[in-house]
Amino acid sequence: MNTLDTHINKKLYYSTVIIVITIMIMGLLIDNPRFGKLEMGFISHSVLVVVLSVCLLLYPKHVTHVCRAIIMIVASVYFYTLFFLYPDTWSNFIFLCFIPAISILFFDSKLFYFSLILNSLSITLTFSYIALVDQGHLYPYIKRDLIGNVINFVGSQVIIYFIFYLSYGRMKRQQLYYEQIKQSERLKTAGQLAAAVAHEIRNPLTVVNGFLQLYEKDSSLSEGIKKHFSLMINELNTAEQVISQLLSIAKPNKDHETETVNVKAVLQSVTDLLHSYGLLHDNKIEFNMVEECYIAANKIEFKQLLINIIKNAIEASGVGESVMITAGRKKDFVEIKVIDCGHGMSEAEVESLGTPFYSLKSKGTGLGMMICYNIATKYKGTIDFQSKKGEGTTVTICFPAKHL
Ligand code: ADP
Ligand code: MG
Repeated sequence: MNTLDTHINKKLYYSTVIIVITIMIMGLLIDNPRFGKLEMGFISHSVLVVVLSVCLLLYPKHVTHVCRAIIMIVASVYFYTLFFLYPDTWSNFIFLCFIPAISILFFDSKLFYFSLILNSLSITLTFSYIALVDQGHLYPYIKRDLIGNVINFVGSQVIIYFIFYLSYGRMKRQQLYYEQIKQSERLKTAGQLAAAVAHEIRNPLTVVNGFLQLYEKDSSLSEGIKKHFSLMINELNTAEQVISQLLSIAKPNKDHETETVNVKAVLQSVTDLLHSYGLLHDNKIEFNMVEECYIAANKIEFKQLLINIIKNAIEASGVGESVMITAGRKKDFVEIKVIDCGHGMSEAEVESLGTPFYSLKSKGTGLGMMICYNIATKYKGTIDFQSKKGEGTTVTICFPAKHL
């Protein structure tokens, strides 16, 4: 809860504190039966007023858990001291009931539970003292109906708890909303950055592509070399498409046509493409698919989804471990499974997938899964993760099958 409650409105805070201090000084000086007598009671009352005032005035400069705890403890000591110094002022008992309410103002859940427990213990001791030692001599209004007073005290703590519970929940939701706005702002900046970078990369790509196309037509070059050129041109085209995809996060592009995609052919080309990437750490990609199946999607986008997920599986795998890919029809769906025996993920990590910039890799962008989920949603598909820390991950990708 740091961002919200550290930005406390100082003007409002200081005005409230000045009013509180004025009331405390009034309590000390006006019609006080102990006023003017140099005895322990009046001195401790005065000292506590000064200490509590200083704590409250210094708090905005030290917004920490420790400071809040100190204020709560000093406030508790102050109210209990008043209760014992002025037994005739029965309304002091009301303050004792509402001590934990002070901690609600700090929106610190640990502090609230701490003050609730501390206050319950203190009131138990106080009531025991009144019942056993004082025996209603100084506090007849409590002793006369001890049980009733205990019930009232418990009731007041329950009310305070509900006030805290409801306002804290609301505050948390507001905090979440604030975080989301901040994140979408960040995403917008990333989108603008991506657009700028993509623009700069596109130009050299177009130049290289143009020259390669020229050489491809050169009759003095052998067919073997020309084959490499067409491969390079293909790869450059893919790179260009990937850049467009990245741009689509910032600026959703409606131009991509939905076509009939041959899943087996796309998976084959993706595994071929990633074969050399896997070899870096001696990871093999085992691809197993018998039947032909088709889905309705954009081929480039579907390819990008598979590349992201299979790349993640390779990156999670240890040296020499293989990544298994299976695919087939399951009722009206085409189901693709990407299985790795890598480092896996905890439940919390799986839940964070798809959050922009969530990455545990030193050079990760944390955008891969977000793009994948966007593509899957666009074509009514789903991506499901089953993972266990240290054991590996199975990603199940499901798309509605297209009947030819
Ligand atoms: P990036 O790959 O750039 O880090 P992604 O969105 O593709 O971003 O993935 C986000 C995070 O999810 C990764 O950093 C990784 O920690 C985790 N992750 C994704 N796939 C797997 C997997 N198969 N096994 C283990 N962790 C994974
Ligand atoms: Mg990735």
